[in-house]
Amino acid sequence: MEYIPSTSGFCPHCGARIASYNPNRRYYGSPIKICKKCGEKYVDRCFHEIAAEGMPSSEFSYGRDKKMGLLGLTFFVLAYTLLYFEKHYQQYYHTSWYMIMILSGAIMLIAVIDAVQIKTGSKEKRFRKLMQESEERLENYEYANQLKELGYNVPEKYLCEKL
Ligand SMILES: [Zn+2]
Repeated sequence: MEYIPSTSGFCPHCGARIASYNPNRRYYGSPIKICKKCGEKYVDRCFHEIAAEGMPSSEFSYGRDKKMGLLGLTFFVLAYTLLYFEKHYQQYYHTSWYMIMILSGAIMLIAVIDAVQIKTGSKEKRFRKLMQESEERLENYEYANQLKELGYNVPEKYLCEKL
């Protein structure tokens, strides 16, 4: 069986578009995928098998939330200021400032929700469940060995067939 790393968003066998692909996001689940069109297997490195790769510490730090929050705040204040000046000192104003304020507000909201989920432990609970599902997949020793062959650091206990 041949595994071809897919980072392009297309099936390496038949070229079909992989619908869920978004290179800016982290997905959790098996990186070994089966193409819906041709039925062949390929590897999607966007997906992370956390029982082999470990819990993603970046998901539990506030660093990304702070960056997103500050970015949202900066654009919000900027758009608000420009809108204010146009309204008071010009005959017209750009309605697109409203759009930017809504978008940057949404970014701030996403950052706040994520931070709250870290703080309250609900995010950790979600990842415990993901970890459990990941461990269940690795219980299949054939699958565990396939991942090992692909270069994943699979814990030794998953690599032997249980008798
Ligand atoms: Zn395919």
